[in-house]
Amino acid sequence: MALVVKKFGGSSVASTDKILNVANRVLNDKHPDDQVVVVVSAMGDTTDDLISLAQGIDDQPYKSSYSREMDMLLTTGEQVSIALLAMAFQKLGQPAISLTGSQIGMHTSSNHTKGRILSIDPARVIHELDKGKIVVAAGFQGIDKHGDPVTLGRGGSDTSAVALAGALKADSCEIFTDVDGIYSADPRIVKGARKMREITYYEMLEMARLGAGVMQPRSVEVGQHFNIPIHVRSTFTDTPGTIIREDYTMEEQGFIIRGVAHDEKVAKFAILGVPNQPGVAHKVFAALSDANIDVDMIVQSIRNVEQDITDIIFTVEQNYVAEAKAVIEGVAQKLRALGVEIDEDVAKVSIVGAGMLGAPGVAAKMFGALAREKVNIEIISTSEISISCLIKADRLRAAVNAIHNEFFPID
Ligand code: ADP
Ligand code: ASP
Ligand code: MG
Repeated sequence: MALVVKKFGGSSVASTDKILNVANRVLNDKHPDDQVVVVVSAMGDTTDDLISLAQGIDDQPYKSSYSREMDMLLTTGEQVSIALLAMAFQKLGQPAISLTGSQIGMHTSSNHTKGRILSIDPARVIHELDKGKIVVAAGFQGIDKHGDPVTLGRGGSDTSAVALAGALKADSCEIFTDVDGIYSADPRIVKGARKMREITYYEMLEMARLGAGVMQPRSVEVGQHFNIPIHVRSTFTDTPGTIIREDYTMEEQGFIIRGVAHDEKVAKFAILGVPNQPGVAHKVFAALSDANIDVDMIVQSIRNVEQDITDIIFTVEQNYVAEAKAVIEGVAQKLRALGVEIDEDVAKVSIVGAGMLGAPGVAAKMFGALAREKVNIEIISTSEISISCLIKADRLRAAVNAIHNEFFPID
């Protein structure tokens, strides 16, 4: 007997036909004694549609004052898909029950729209499995100490599934999606992207953090925490996908870079002409932190030698531009800055790979590919295993392809 957790993303359950297809597939793969938990996302673009609905009330629905109501709204998406999938199983003769985030015991922090899982008490899940039912669990949602629904950030069903697999000590965790594995770049952007058989948690986490939306970054961290291999594979074919695990078991570790990631949901802020004094950067970033706004790339540069003023430039997630603007304009006024500029037409392209540690020339190779494509770099940032460049959004596709061709030449 095995206990298996399978997660199906929005495109896999986009219609009732697809929901029936998922139910059939799960039953075909199920051995008689298996206990099965299926985690699902909302149908198709439901979450985006719900956000658009909220924009009909206010075009900035991600303001922190709305975040509780946003969660109340967004959690409805998964409630629809779990009910339909449980009905699909029953129609096929398989006892099944749908459970919300609260019913699976998914306890989260109270920071709405960006909740963190604090603990899972899967007693109800185990009880239903022991009765011979398939449990269909809502992804993306949990409940806080006040009993309010909280969502886990976009793409959060991946994290629900991996965390549930950890809490249940499941024998396997499969993430079914509309691609048949993890590729060296988003296959929608790079035609020649290469499928990987394996990738480490470390590298996948960096790819995901830098925009590879196939897995939510937090889900990879949770997988690493529980040391659960995560199998990312296609809903629509039987081909083996990619295993995310602690270390390589095959020869794949030879690559200098594993992949190219990109992120379009970025906005650049520049606070121009602030005093070049201790404590100024602290004032700016403390104000953003107090407003719960994550900052990504940061650059501070001296304007010119005559004046003792600097520009502070940084990026934030596009959803938080309105909130960040209000915070930054307040700080800029207090610091008597010369002005604030905001550019939403930017994007970030990154290369990722543990092999670049100690390998000279990797950055030069990336910048060379961008130079030949005449893509201007606005900000560069690095981590131990990645290099990122902020560029104009309309050059993103060309940039991703140029960098990919440089590191993974077509043979
Ligand atoms: P789901 O709805 O199943 O959660 P997502 O849309 O969240 O699916 O994630 C799957 C998508 O991730 C793919 O369609 C693909 O375009 C995108 N993606 C981005 N980077 C990669 C990558 N490196 N490898 C595979 N897919 C990627
Ligand atoms: N439905 C949620 C979203 O669109 C969660 C998920 O798909 O993982 O972000
Ligand atoms: Mg997803």
